[in-house]
Amino acid sequence: MSAKGFGGALLLALTGCAPMADPIPMSHVRTEGGVLARACEGRDGWADAAPPAGIFGNTYYVGTCGIAVLLVTSPQGHVLIDGATEDAVPSILANIRALGFDPRDVRLIIGSHEHIDHMGGFAALKAATGAEVRVSQAARPVIESGQSAADDPQFGLLPSMTPVSVAGTLTDGEVVEVGPLRLTVHATPGHTNGGTSWTWRSCEGPNCATFAFVDSMTAVSRDDYRFTDHPERVAPFRATFDRVRRMPCDILVTPHPGFSSLFERLAGREPLIDRDACRRLVRGMSERLDARLAREGALQ
Ligand SMILES: [Zn+2]
Repeated sequence: MSAKGFGGALLLALTGCAPMADPIPMSHVRTEGGVLARACEGRDGWADAAPPAGIFGNTYYVGTCGIAVLLVTSPQGHVLIDGATEDAVPSILANIRALGFDPRDVRLIIGSHEHIDHMGGFAALKAATGAEVRVSQAARPVIESGQSAADDPQFGLLPSMTPVSVAGTLTDGEVVEVGPLRLTVHATPGHTNGGTSWTWRSCEGPNCATFAFVDSMTAVSRDDYRFTDHPERVAPFRATFDRVRRMPCDILVTPHPGFSSLFERLAGREPLIDRDACRRLVRGMSERLDARLAREGALQ
């Protein structure tokens, strides 16, 4: 055994999980990541069909050019994270099949936040897969009615969604299980009341990494809305920034893939594994929120 190999074995013995080389070895970069990146060049519509791609281990990208949808697989059933729009569902199902999986083996549908671009496809996906849908308590009335919450800063901007019944709600810190899969719920409100982020482990042989699917943290609203008039909506952003900064985060994925340069990373142009990615995302989002509040203040 080489000295390098011995060091890896020692670390494995100490940590129980082999360390990932950082940046990711080029051997990991699969051609399908490059195909996905090329297919989506200049296209980022919510329902712009994209080819699927393996991200790492049992976690796959099955979304569109504009909206991330992830499939986490196991021999005892799969978890689907987010559902894009209803228009995107045929391509999501085609992507699951193209990867060699059966949509009817999806057991659980979960997601980021209660807006049409991420959960608008839930009703059609539930019908096609037979899976249970679970969302946060705050997201439930929106998903079951298809109507935005009246206190959502984007209320009136977003079209209604096809409603879907929810099998149960999620609580912060809960670990949801499907077969051997374990995904941890992180309540990250701000962009919406029900915003949720997720972490889970995926492995390739002895190499394991923690995925962080971090919900949108942008302060978006209709034109006449002022966050400076709603300190109760600013405080959750600050708390969410603190949480995400501390989240285990080897492989960051965001619901809008551009916010985490996902396609560039899958194409091998940037490292897929970047343990500073969550902290860097929070820095950017925090500066954006501060800039928005400063702009509103200047208009007073
Ligand atoms: Zn949104």
